[in-house]
Amino acid sequence: MKDVIVIGAGAVGAFIARNLSRFNLNVLVLDKDNDVCNATSCANSAISHSGYDPVPGTKKAKFNVLGNQMMEQVCKELDVPYEQIGTLTVATEEAQLKTLEELKERATINGVPSEIVDQARLREMEPNISEEALGALYCPTGGIINPFLLTCHAMENALDNGVELALNQEVKDIKKVSDHFVVYTQDKEYESKVVINAAGVYSDKIAAMIEPIDWFITPRKGEYYVLDHFKGEFVNHVVFPLPSAKGKGVLVSKTTSGNYIIGPSSEPMDDRECVACDSLTLANVKQQASMLIKNIPFYQQIRVYAGLRATPSTHDFIIESSKSEPAFINVAGIESPGLVSSPAIGKYVVEELVSKVLKLEENKNYKKNIKPYTKPLDLSNEERNALIKEHPEFGRMVCQCEKVSLGEILEVLHRKLPCNSLKALKKRTRAGFGKCQGGFCQPISVSIIAEEKEIDVSKVSYDKDGGYFAPYKSNKGGKR
Ligand SMILES: Cc1cc2nc3c(=O)[nH]c(=O)nc-3n(C[C@H](O)[C@H](O)[C@H](O)COP(=O)(O)OP(=O)(O)OC[C@H]3O[C@@H](n4cnc5c(N)ncnc54)[C@H](O)[C@@H]3O)c2cc1C
Repeated sequence: MKDVIVIGAGAVGAFIARNLSRFNLNVLVLDKDNDVCNATSCANSAISHSGYDPVPGTKKAKFNVLGNQMMEQVCKELDVPYEQIGTLTVATEEAQLKTLEELKERATINGVPSEIVDQARLREMEPNISEEALGALYCPTGGIINPFLLTCHAMENALDNGVELALNQEVKDIKKVSDHFVVYTQDKEYESKVVINAAGVYSDKIAAMIEPIDWFITPRKGEYYVLDHFKGEFVNHVVFPLPSAKGKGVLVSKTTSGNYIIGPSSEPMDDRECVACDSLTLANVKQQASMLIKNIPFYQQIRVYAGLRATPSTHDFIIESSKSEPAFINVAGIESPGLVSSPAIGKYVVEELVSKVLKLEENKNYKKNIKPYTKPLDLSNEERNALIKEHPEFGRMVCQCEKVSLGEILEVLHRKLPCNSLKALKKRTRAGFGKCQGGFCQPISVSIIAEEKEIDVSKVSYDKDGGYFAPYKSNKGGKR
């Protein structure tokens, strides 16, 4: 019998798990995919929003502001790239200047520092701002994060502190039996005193397994362009238009890896899995971005991608025990700004909701810092040479575009957090993220995964199990 089962291994599930591991509890995380961070948490804008935008008094406002305040420290503990580059919300029409004032008031109520900058200052801050830009709301505490490592490292830290993770376990039903729950997946059943629903776009389906609910989730797709990293600061801040009923609008930003992202669109969907992009939507994204920033070098485009927001019919995050079962906790409808909010949501769920139904006893062995990773690119030449002399695998480049060595790949394949696919490797190391999009390194990575996992290359998937990269048996039996 588990004390707590968490359904969903996205950013929210990972931070709930990490916070649960601060206490002496028997915790299991279930996810239907073969990796953590494989749904919305891996396909978003990766902005640590300051919190100027959510309506004051909402859960979105509360957890956004708290999460952003926690982000720098959390990223230090979990070794996650984070840069507080600030955000600019830009007015391009006279009438919008008044809206900037209203947004500033909202920022003040939410406790977020902000300042209105005029056209001249805006041009100094962003030399590529469009000619139409008239002024902006500057929020210096906004920033950018690596969403893959934020989620993966939060989960790895939870595992290091005793949490268990079961992948490829899709929850199909949940029943209350006397004083506990039985959670049924496609091939197993698990018993637990407490169940936490952090299932993203499926969180309404999971909630409805316990009782009738009066809310629902609409997946809302956002599509993006990714530009390569290139010399010169093309934008220095996260640049947004004014927010609308559809969300925060199409932004232009650099990422913690030095790439640039442009997007997202905002379209309601019926399908909870479809993350395909289409050319008409992307053309619209391009047009909207070009109203903010001039001469965007779209010729540097290396990829497009899309993510699905779990938009709740309540218009606010749902973070509470279910009506009939205090030990069944919904953490649902966590659309944007859910990534930045996730550290604060994880803490709240454990300290304020789980504590009401379970006795929390401190885990004296809890370690808040993740075990260190070897990062050859962060070393001086002398240090790197010494590392390669002792461990030659750190001198063998696998991904030439992103400069990822064999040593780094071997390291992630042997850590506590399972790494079972090419996409899992990509999220953790960036191998395959570069200009050639894995054309060079992915065949090599497939054979490394096969050899280290002692499986045939034909069994290495790109993403979900069954989506094999090279569906033919190798005559080397998986040896590279
Ligand atoms: C286009 C876009 C832009 C965004 N930009 C930002 C931003 O800049 N900043 C920000 O703070 N937020 C942003 N967000 C929001 C943020 O990405 C999400 O709020 C956050 O990632 C949600 O995390 P989650 O863990 O709730 O969901 P997910 O990451 O989707 O995780 C849910 C998990 O549940 C699992 N699951 C589902 N059903 C089952 C089942 N039946 N059994 C087992 N497992 C199941 C899934 O496999 C998945 O792994 C954006 C979102 C989108 C789509």
